[in-house]
Amino acid sequence: MSVVRLPGMSGSREWVYPQSIHGAFTSVRRWTFLLLHAALFVAPWITVRGHPMVLLDLPHRRVHLMGAIYTPSDTIFLVLLLLFLAFSLFFFTAIFGRIWCGYACPQTVFLESWIRPLEQWTEGDRTRRKRRDAQGLSLDKAWRKIVKWAAFLGVSLLLGMAMTSLFAGARPLWTGQASAASYAFVAIFSALWFVDFVWFREQFCIFLCPYARFQSALTDEETLLISYDTKRGEPRGPKRGPEGGCIACQKCVVVCPQGIDIRDGFQLECIQCARCVDACESVMSRFDQPTLVRYSSIAADEGRESRPLRPRTLVYGGMLTALTAAAVVLVLARVPFEASVNRAPGSLYTEDADGFVRNTYLLRITNNEPSELPVEYDIAIDGLDRAEVTAVPVRLAPEQTVTLPLIVRLPREAANRRTVPFTVRVASPTAELLLPTTFKTGASLGGQDD
Ligand code: SF4
Ligand code: SF4
Repeated sequence: MSVVRLPGMSGSREWVYPQSIHGAFTSVRRWTFLLLHAALFVAPWITVRGHPMVLLDLPHRRVHLMGAIYTPSDTIFLVLLLLFLAFSLFFFTAIFGRIWCGYACPQTVFLESWIRPLEQWTEGDRTRRKRRDAQGLSLDKAWRKIVKWAAFLGVSLLLGMAMTSLFAGARPLWTGQASAASYAFVAIFSALWFVDFVWFREQFCIFLCPYARFQSALTDEETLLISYDTKRGEPRGPKRGPEGGCIACQKCVVVCPQGIDIRDGFQLECIQCARCVDACESVMSRFDQPTLVRYSSIAADEGRESRPLRPRTLVYGGMLTALTAAAVVLVLARVPFEASVNRAPGSLYTEDADGFVRNTYLLRITNNEPSELPVEYDIAIDGLDRAEVTAVPVRLAPEQTVTLPLIVRLPREAANRRTVPFTVRVASPTAELLLPTTFKTGASLGGQDD
């Protein structure tokens, strides 16, 4: 009977069958996974003062975060956020190595939380999975694969919905009221996750992820790494000798989701998930010995000190502090509405019959106040003595934008320059914006240009 090759069953790729593992680091990772799932699945449903706690509203070019609304005029916050994330990655990588990969990367989080348990549930433990995949197609194998992939598809759809909720809003998306484009994004995200779960898996870390490539530039000899204690472990052998502690049980190898042997030294493929630490801990505890695979650094292995504070981490930490301080200052000084003033199209100035010169503007105001109540705005001008201002009262609902005419009139005898700068003042109960513009009187009045 010919053998039907299903994805991951053979070919040039060596399929990885990680054995399940329990231990202290696995428990810590469960907690970080739980927190990240809460952030993804729960946060889009929470509202703060009537606004989504987190929503990247791309069609309306708005970002909702913790009840505040950020618009393109707040681009500085986006720049600060990206810089903060970049320096956080540098800082934590310099101290803890690839802690992101092992504890927080979505690829790791979803594979460990959903895919490996589902695989174990449908196809059994590592030995059974490996043996069955090496055999030809059978009814037993087929139904298990079908059930497993159906479950993966369900998880992929769930993740696609959760990710798109961040852009389309959880309520409209899950109640079928979001746009067709939103559901197209669900389909794209779900398809990508499904391919990753069924086939790509650890290859993403090895071949695609840029972080794995530049991590060596971010670490040094004092960075924490997961490594094998060669001095205590070697020479390895099936029996614990007087010198070598490693009993060559291979447990640290069979639990590795990247398919590597940590005893071969530092490898690019290692995502520092610490599964091998828990594995060796469980073996060595039987001999009342500390684990041979542990968090350490090159410096510590050579008997030198590992300092968390060193030039590299001080620079990154200093940048993080400065970025945080800048963000706090800007948030405190932030005006929770947007306003702009432009001259009305086709009108420079008009001479009225009653001896006034009139300029007409269009004033645009957007209410970004983090409140469910409407907000009233006062409009006034500064810098034009004896001017008359005509503007309708403005009362805006949350997130409402309005464009209204603003008419400014100046007695002809006061208009002694061709262009007079002045300021439009827009004030809400909590903040004020000053918009500089100019008043045109015209050369026909015989004035001097400024
Ligand atoms: S070597 Fe250890 S820490 Fe690295 S990926 Fe494998 S199990 Fe995780
Ligand atoms: S788990 Fe520990 S004892 Fe077993 S092979 Fe790995 S390093 Fe050696």
